[in-house]
Amino acid sequence: MEEIYDLKFVFPDPVMSLSLQDGRTLCIHQDAERTARSIAQFSEKDARTYVKAAAKFKEYMDVFIAPATYCRPHPAMEAMAKMNSHEIGRDLQALQPMSPRAIVEELFENEHVRTFFLYASCMWGLDYDLEGLGFLVPLYLNRAANYRLVVGGTHHLAHVMSKVLYKNGGMIIGPKPVSKIVIENGRAKGVETEDGYYYEAGKFIVSSLNPHQTFLELVGEKHLEPDFVVRTNDYKWEKTSFFHVHMALTEAPEFKAAENNPEVAKSFIHLFDYESYQELIDHFDAIRMGEVRDAGFNSCFPTLHDPSQAPAGKHTILLEEFAAPLRFFSEKDWLKMKREVVDHMLKDWQIYAPNMTWDNVIAHNIQTPLDVAYRHPDMKEGGWAEGAMMLSMHDRFRPVPEIANYRIPDVKNMYICSSNLHSCGGIGRGSSYNCFKKIVEDFDLPKIWEEKGREY
Ligand SMILES: Cc1cc2nc3c(=O)[nH]c(=O)nc-3n(C[C@H](O)[C@H](O)[C@H](O)COP(=O)(O)OP(=O)(O)OC[C@H]3O[C@@H](n4cnc5c(N)ncnc54)[C@H](O)[C@@H]3O)c2cc1C
Repeated sequence: MEEIYDLKFVFPDPVMSLSLQDGRTLCIHQDAERTARSIAQFSEKDARTYVKAAAKFKEYMDVFIAPATYCRPHPAMEAMAKMNSHEIGRDLQALQPMSPRAIVEELFENEHVRTFFLYASCMWGLDYDLEGLGFLVPLYLNRAANYRLVVGGTHHLAHVMSKVLYKNGGMIIGPKPVSKIVIENGRAKGVETEDGYYYEAGKFIVSSLNPHQTFLELVGEKHLEPDFVVRTNDYKWEKTSFFHVHMALTEAPEFKAAENNPEVAKSFIHLFDYESYQELIDHFDAIRMGEVRDAGFNSCFPTLHDPSQAPAGKHTILLEEFAAPLRFFSEKDWLKMKREVVDHMLKDWQIYAPNMTWDNVIAHNIQTPLDVAYRHPDMKEGGWAEGAMMLSMHDRFRPVPEIANYRIPDVKNMYICSSNLHSCGGIGRGSSYNCFKKIVEDFDLPKIWEEKGREY
């Protein structure tokens, strides 16, 4: 891919950091020993714990979590037997009932270390006090030390994928919202689009939309079992969303903390404005209650690691702050919040990097949950995973048990592949790949992963 499509990644280091107003910074590096040296400023005990935990979590990822991500969920008894037969499976089972907060508090004693790791555990949609999905915490903490950046920006990756599609005889038609999936004699025959066109399916139809769209709106209840309709109506949406602010900057932020620790300025993702563990918990609670408050956020600096993303010498940043889901506010409220949120982010930024004033901002664009929902009708509530992360909607229960196999029982030749299936949201979480594997099996196509000697 690298040679043919010019697809390259950079692996920034430090990967993430938490800055405090007194100038101290906790940096997470790819290398656990370096991270431990940073943690040791806060707690020697936590530093030693981190080295052991990071090694364990990597093993959990390699042996269990990554393989389980890229295959379809096993039936309950089979999954249990598999977990019980392996030491790592038993470790993960022990973590399962624990909330992210319980795991972080059991591991670490220092409040800033706890703040950092609780944020890193929850920034992908886990609720801090959610019980039942504790085995995902090792995944997110392992990820916090392994972020990568696509050279040229994420849109370059999307272009590369479309080139692969065209090269192999595919075609993209759009933007054309689908208004109906035509079902005849139990088969998915084709789709109608809002502009009145009809596209007949050659062999099958795959939907990457949320369950309400796919089943209730496009397929239609008359083709579905009543129980299934009830369950689909009961599908739960995310409890949190985000404000996303993109900025073009005249100059890079000049971090005060860099005077003591020049590494800070190179950090890929910065976490700001959580001076205590309780502030982070209070922020999570406030979001659930639909409150907006001047709280912490993270910032990411692509151009420090990939200068090709801006004109020479200029920079870009992405600021991301948790927000309540769309349903809590009116359209007018969300629009009003746009300027307020950016103002408070910049004001807070100046505590850590005084040159982050409006004078340094060439242009900016803020997206509230309202913008996300407008741009992506599948992201109901302005979330990012087409549905909540919770035990009753996870793994073989996601989105509902009848269709957790990427296939619809009542309609032949119709598949679903989106993040409302195992294993949840995020661009690398495998739902489309797992759906592809199901189609390969059903149509007796070559199993390319086996040909290449890959486990998944
Ligand atoms: C603002 C934001 C930031 C994110 N940041 C990250 C990140 O840094 N890393 C990460 O891993 N994940 C990130 N995510 C999450 C990630 O983008 C999603 O989890 C992932 O894209 C989900 O894939 P999907 O196929 O389920 O849905 P999508 O990628 O949303 O694909 C569904 C497509 O269907 C289209 N569509 C909707 N309705 C119709 C219709 N009626 N007819 C035809 N087409 C329709 C949508 O416009 C969309 O293009 C982010 C999400 C958001 C919203």
